[in-house]
Amino acid sequence: MGIIIQKFGGSSVANTEKLEQVAQKIIAEKISGNKVIVVVSAQGKTTDRLISEEKEITDNPSRREHDVLVSTGEQITISKLAMLLHQKGYKAVSLTGWQVPIVTNSEFGNSRIRYIHKATILDLLSSDNIVIVAGFQGVDENLNITTLGRGGSDTTAVALAANFEADRCDIYTDVDGVYTADPRFVKNVKRLDKVSYDEMLELASLGAKVLHNRCVEIGKKYNVPIFVKSTFEKNNIGTLISNEKPLEDLVINGVAKDDNISRITIVGLENKIGKTYELFKLLAENNINIDIIVQAFGETFIKNITFTVKMTDLNRTLKILNANKDKLNCKEIIHAENLSKVSIVGVGIANKPGVASKMFEALCEKNINMHMISTSEIKISVLVDIEDAPNAVNTIHEKFFK
Ligand code: ASP
Ligand code: MG
Repeated sequence: MGIIIQKFGGSSVANTEKLEQVAQKIIAEKISGNKVIVVVSAQGKTTDRLISEEKEITDNPSRREHDVLVSTGEQITISKLAMLLHQKGYKAVSLTGWQVPIVTNSEFGNSRIRYIHKATILDLLSSDNIVIVAGFQGVDENLNITTLGRGGSDTTAVALAANFEADRCDIYTDVDGVYTADPRFVKNVKRLDKVSYDEMLELASLGAKVLHNRCVEIGKKYNVPIFVKSTFEKNNIGTLISNEKPLEDLVINGVAKDDNISRITIVGLENKIGKTYELFKLLAENNINIDIIVQAFGETFIKNITFTVKMTDLNRTLKILNANKDKLNCKEIIHAENLSKVSIVGVGIANKPGVASKMFEALCEKNINMHMISTSEIKISVLVDIEDAPNAVNTIHEKFFK
């Protein structure tokens, strides 16, 4: 008898009627002879509501208390779902993150899972219970409540799947799989039957917000097959995220955008060994996440380095750079805001001739200017103005998938 993990997101558990349908999905899995561990998010927009209520009190809450507050949503869902299953004659027990326990580090608001105790869940499963675990939450070694970051219930689910060597981790959501682009603003998108972990990591980090990025990382590390499926559509196949190769080798698998981008250029940095290292060491020490880096080749004694950071990190980064301007000994620090990174993703993109030119052709036809380009084994990204981004994604998508 295998173990199956089923995870239901906020929109799937938004009210009692929806919880009923979720209960049916759980029962079907149980009847087919599997041991079932269920992970749920907070109902609907509960977490958003808790955060706005917090803002009524303070903009700068204690990080510990923040986690105590935002973790409460999931506890409501697990108890209701357990009661519903009891009503239908099934044995079910709900567990919070600290009851499992799911032990994390103490990075409140963005904790990482260290280990998951197996005994409690295994005992409950062996006495025929459906186990319902609250997503998104854990406990640190000092018994403080922690949370895994927004959207973190996916990570709880895949971490449980890895820990219990589950046959599958089914992530039920309001879309019926992973698409070639965001269906909310791109026309003629196609659902993908299969995606590799690496492609999914790119698509997730590039703003195709289907899954929490860290759950894909865990899936890849422990080889957990992850299915993304719709809760409410019948007989949907969904998308399988795994190491399996797709039958049909598409040129690219998706087009995504990330609107949270700003660009910084260090002008006139001395063209001397160690200078680039000095710059990025400074940023690393301050925990600034750098994405694309471009260094123009230094024809003289000086060189320019351009890199991107999240919009949300821009002010902090500029402050650090300006405070160290004399030490860095550069001419100028300039920046551009409100950019978007538009990317195409596909395994082996680097080995397929003509892919980049096709992407640039699409942008050129629509008169969209590219501010920066970067490529890797599985993606090509360009920076465009944020207002051009939806158009850019659409036109590139049309080029590759018409
Ligand atoms: N309820 C949390 C959030 O809204 C976690 C999750 O939904 O995965 O971010
Ligand atoms: Mg989610």
